[in-house]
Amino acid sequence: MRQGSRSTTYGYLIAILATAAAILVRWLTDPWLNLQLRVGMIYGAVALGAYVGGPGPGVLATLLGYGISAYLFIKPRGSFINDREAWLGFGLYLATSLLIIVLMESLRRARQRARANEQLLRVTFSSIGDAIITTDTEGHITYLNPVAEALTGWKQEEAMGAPLEDVFQIVNEDTRKTVESPVAKSLREGVMVGLANHTVLIAKDGTECPIDDSAAPIRDGEGEVSGVVMVFRDVRERRRAEQTRWQMALIVESSDDAIVGKDLSGNITSWNHGAERLYGYSAAEVVGKSVSILMPEDRPDELRQNLEQLKRGDRIDIHEAIRVRKDGQRILVSVGISPVRNEAGVIIGGSTIARDIREVKKQEQRLRLLSETAALMLRAQNPDSMLRDLFTKIRGQLGLDTYFNFMVNDAGDALRLESCAGISPETAEGIRRLEFGQAVCGRVALEHRPIVRTHIQESEDAMTALVKSFGIRVYACNPLMAGDKVLGTLSFASRTRDTFDPAELEFLQTLSNYVAVAYERLRWMRQLRETDRRKDEFLATLAHELRNPLAPIRNAIEILKAKGPKDPELMWGREVIDRQVQHMTRLLEDLLDVSRISHNKLELRKERVDLAELIRHAVETSRPAIDAGGQDLSLELSREPVYVLVDPVRVAQVFSNLLSNAAKYTQPGGRIRLVEERKGSDVVVTVQDNGIGISPEMLPYVFDMFSQAQRMDRSQGGLGIGLSLVRSILELHGASIEARSEGPGKGSDFIVRFPLVVEPMVTPDLPPREAIRSDAPIPRRILIVDDLKDSADSLAVLLRALRHEVRTAYDGEEAVLAASQFQPEIILLDIGMPKLNGYEACRRLRAEHWGKSMYLIALTGWGQDDDRAKTEAAGFDAHLVKPADPDELLRLVDTVPRRSEATMS
Ligand code: ADP
Repeated sequence: MRQGSRSTTYGYLIAILATAAAILVRWLTDPWLNLQLRVGMIYGAVALGAYVGGPGPGVLATLLGYGISAYLFIKPRGSFINDREAWLGFGLYLATSLLIIVLMESLRRARQRARANEQLLRVTFSSIGDAIITTDTEGHITYLNPVAEALTGWKQEEAMGAPLEDVFQIVNEDTRKTVESPVAKSLREGVMVGLANHTVLIAKDGTECPIDDSAAPIRDGEGEVSGVVMVFRDVRERRRAEQTRWQMALIVESSDDAIVGKDLSGNITSWNHGAERLYGYSAAEVVGKSVSILMPEDRPDELRQNLEQLKRGDRIDIHEAIRVRKDGQRILVSVGISPVRNEAGVIIGGSTIARDIREVKKQEQRLRLLSETAALMLRAQNPDSMLRDLFTKIRGQLGLDTYFNFMVNDAGDALRLESCAGISPETAEGIRRLEFGQAVCGRVALEHRPIVRTHIQESEDAMTALVKSFGIRVYACNPLMAGDKVLGTLSFASRTRDTFDPAELEFLQTLSNYVAVAYERLRWMRQLRETDRRKDEFLATLAHELRNPLAPIRNAIEILKAKGPKDPELMWGREVIDRQVQHMTRLLEDLLDVSRISHNKLELRKERVDLAELIRHAVETSRPAIDAGGQDLSLELSREPVYVLVDPVRVAQVFSNLLSNAAKYTQPGGRIRLVEERKGSDVVVTVQDNGIGISPEMLPYVFDMFSQAQRMDRSQGGLGIGLSLVRSILELHGASIEARSEGPGKGSDFIVRFPLVVEPMVTPDLPPREAIRSDAPIPRRILIVDDLKDSADSLAVLLRALRHEVRTAYDGEEAVLAASQFQPEIILLDIGMPKLNGYEACRRLRAEHWGKSMYLIALTGWGQDDDRAKTEAAGFDAHLVKPADPDELLRLVDTVPRRSEATMS
């Protein structure tokens, strides 16, 4: 509007000026024009005013021009219209002017419309997303919109008038050949030219961009081609999107998972191959139907709940869901459902990804089975029960009913059936032995590789003939290998299945490897036990053998004591030998005890004893060691008798051991304390010293066999078995021991805890040891028989020194002969002897009438109850264990009833 009013005002001005100009020209040319062309010049002003400003200015120019012209130029000048002719002229003038005004107005409107159209087109072109270039008929550029500027890199001003080829360079994407621009073709053929595919536009700076383009001729009103408009666009984004869409579709289609789209009412909208495979329906069968066909009937609410959650925009994850296949089979799947939204973000459905987890579940179960069987095999003590337990565990899982375990026999020339299930005992008997190469197992053992046979009942294979006859349908046999060595084979079989799948075969193979390891473990254990047994046996024999020479030495010392020289140095020497022999005897006794304990052969003779009394006894035994160590021993024993039910000899041994250790591991001048106290229902005895102490690292192991920390003095040497013995003995008594130490240099406490015996009881009055020995022994006739000559001779010397009449013999036969001649009252008879052993000699002696009344004492290294029983059965009267304590021996000799007394009684 404002634009219009402005042009109208402008039109009036033009009209006035043009009219004025026309009148001026008419006035100047008046002398020459005479009265001709009175108003002709005014028409130009009317046309100009009407064209520029519209009808108003046209009319103004018409009236103004005529008025002034009539007054100035039409005669009579100075007047307006004064006659008929003038009126006629005026009328004609008006008509002509009107015609001019109408014409000019239509011309003006047409021009305005054209301008508006052009404006519209430009605005459209520049705001459009596509690139647009227009050319004239020569192919020179007439217009470039901003998108085209951006893509070509040319500015509108630079490009104007330039040949299109300069600005719009296109090549084929693949061949790189220049492509004819669609403009040229459009111009040539005058038609619209469609999209040229795979075209790349090379911009001014050399960058490339794939485009789609098209060109159409511009035709004028007459249909003549006046130029071409070309439209093109960057297709990179579109291509990317297409590619992504295409890839997505491919992923969905090729996925192993079932991917199913559904709308909010639960109707299936898409169905990939994975879904076809998993559920058995084709896409055509189910798209458009409700997903409820996949839901188990016993879970009617699941779908409704899922859809509700979906509508809320929640993602749903179900780790284990049941779905129903087309064939009705129920399958276990893991399901993830995500909401699907449209462009506006509104939820329109869901996308479900389901995965078959039956295999995963199976794997899980197998893994569990494997770990269970591994545990089972680590515990196993014997192969047969191990394999039976194993088979019970796995048979259900794999549908097995039979297994065979063959092992290479001891000779190494064949296989022997070690364990099996699923066949009758008679059948098993028939395959107890299998040659290498025979049947499947024989072949596996020979070739060291697994053999699997399927569909056996339909097979004519000779190798499987044997198992076929058992009704077996599938058979998998694995070798049991220890490194390169074949130990045997393990096969599993089924009468209900025809095949095993690869995962099952792998599982069976792994099991077989486990079994091989278990067999190896059992073998090592056997070997270890055997080695341990031999070691114990060796230690026992060693101790035993070492004890033999000690007997004569001890006898010799006794002789020296009784008759020996009074020279102080020699007496000192005798003392040293005595002490060291006693020490050695103790060590050997300990060793023997260890072997007794490890063979459960240590016998306890439990009695009710007052612990304080017992401890006093033990202290006496250890006193020499403590005195030698120069330590100060303090005893704090309870005043009241505290009764315990123990083997006094063994418990005394415990305390002597603890005390000698305290002496051994405490510096001279140190302190040793022994405290006995009641604590609740226990009696606790603590042996405490302020010696070298025990390091924290060593502390947990002091009670282990052969464990030793660094010692103060090697000459104090022990075997590292003392504390182990102490603990074992205490455990046999239901007592316990604990070691405490603050660390090296801080001393040690050994705390022993006994359960108390509640009711007091009178202890049997044992005669005191010393009381037995009479000061003046009665001389006896004694025959000593020992194949260890030193032993026999030294004892003879000792007994003779005590005024006994003594003979010696060095084997069983000689003993019988000597006895018949010498007629002794007492015979000390060794058991292990050449020619005739002690038992035999004893029987022979007893068979003689003169031998019946002789007092036969067995002298042997073996002191167990059954050893005693044996000697008693052979006819001995007494049993002494070597090296016999000379005191004990003498006491016994003294108490033997005299023959006269014996006959009298
Ligand atoms: P050993 O024959 O070596 O004495 P034991 O079994 O009696 O064997 O003792 C085992 C180890 O415990 C000793 O070697 C010693 O290191 C440590 N031990 C035992 N008693 C004491 C103690 N009273 N003080 C310090 N260390 C001790």
